[in-house]
Amino acid sequence: MGIAPDGGLFVLPNFDGIQFDVRAALDADLVTRTAMVLKAFMPAFGSFENMVRESYDGHFDHPEITPVEKVGDKYVLELFHGSTCAFKDMALLFLPKLIRKAMELKSIHEKVLILTATSGDTGTAAINGFSDVEGTAIIVFYPSDGVSKIQKEQMIKSIGKNVSVCGVHGNFDDCQSAVKATFAKLNEDRIPEKYGFRLSSANSINIGRLFPQVAYYFTAYSDLLKRGAIRYGDSVDYVVPTGNFGDILAGYMAKKIGLPVGRLVCASNANRILTDFFQTGVYDLRREFELTSSPSMDILISSNFERLLYYESNGDTAFVKTSMEKMKSDGYYNVPENMLESIRKTFFAYACSEEETRRTIQNVFETYGYLADPHTAVALHAAEQYQKECNPKNPVVVLSTASPYKFSDAVLESLRVTADSDDIFDKMYALESISGVHAPSSLMSLKGMEVLHKDVIDKEEILSYVSRKLEQSEA
Ligand SMILES: *Cc1c(COP(=O)(O)O)cnc(C)c1O
Repeated sequence: MGIAPDGGLFVLPNFDGIQFDVRAALDADLVTRTAMVLKAFMPAFGSFENMVRESYDGHFDHPEITPVEKVGDKYVLELFHGSTCAFKDMALLFLPKLIRKAMELKSIHEKVLILTATSGDTGTAAINGFSDVEGTAIIVFYPSDGVSKIQKEQMIKSIGKNVSVCGVHGNFDDCQSAVKATFAKLNEDRIPEKYGFRLSSANSINIGRLFPQVAYYFTAYSDLLKRGAIRYGDSVDYVVPTGNFGDILAGYMAKKIGLPVGRLVCASNANRILTDFFQTGVYDLRREFELTSSPSMDILISSNFERLLYYESNGDTAFVKTSMEKMKSDGYYNVPENMLESIRKTFFAYACSEEETRRTIQNVFETYGYLADPHTAVALHAAEQYQKECNPKNPVVVLSTASPYKFSDAVLESLRVTADSDDIFDKMYALESISGVHAPSSLMSLKGMEVLHKDVIDKEEILSYVSRKLEQSEA
């Protein structure tokens, strides 16, 4: 199930009973380590080693899967070497196997329909994971004007008999809210079961997305140990480019099960709602939605923040519910002073303007020869601010969430380089020639592929769109 029947998000009630051997996980190889993390959170599933190996084997263009690069005085954890060139692959290559296994354990014989809203990267990664997986179908909705050209190419050219992709007029928040509402409505009216389906989600509201992401926080730590940058037990700070708050919440969970995490720095683009929250304790939606060069972070309603509220209120579900309702009705909510204080012990936050994003891409390339995508640049900028302001003793790991090639437009513009034409593939060639780094073949191969998904609808039509797809799939 993607969302709980009452419309809230599933959480692990607390971290008390979790059995986890941190030292052993840090010493293990990546597959074993990831399997250990998953088992700690989901002991009923038994061993995860084979599932993880099958999920990751052959799907990455780097032998280390999530390598760490030293860039100046920071460490960059590259999470974009998977099939769709964004960090979403880390969880979405695995989620289909997890869902199939859950169905098997629960003797569920219906098919699963994955309904997903995407700010760009979830859609492609989810399609890649679920394409032609038996017993599943997937429908992806993307904001028609809110994704990068390459993100769009990846989605509308997706193949797979069980895949539908549809644009929705409006921004990501509109799209995500409408999909969430459709999800609830379909379940309420018991429509999927009429056609032999149940619903689930590939968004990070699905708790199955979060667990695999916890593992790479350990992997980065293990890497720093191996290169002698830290000793076992030293704290490490992590800077995370944030949208729906899933990735950074995984860091919080890693800390809760014993990884020596110092601070978690939340990096936002011009949609700085979280930065403002960490300053004021008010989550205030009453502001303009900005379209930026880091579209996967163009989000005002950060779904997973609900889970942080749950943990930081010590499981006060009434408080969480009231806050979420207040956000819907009044456009804001605030948290008590003592809760904000406690949150601020772990979380720091910085926002990055469009101009700062461009300058960071340029500086990092000119100074270190490192090519950063705009999402990573937002985090690099936040890391710089954090180091200047707080002078931390801990090493700083910046999570890099997308390949620069996925955002060739914005990267070239920042570097003030023009390509031969406006064609996105020419832009990738131009980026290759200045950086000497090969464009991922999964992006280049889009060139010769056919557009298969042309639908674009209004958000009011999502419900009937899904109903129609369910009818067709039965026939
Ligand atoms: C999804 C995404 C993010 C934001 O991650 P959240 O878990 O939603 O906070 C950042 N960068 C890229 C490239 C993404 O695709």
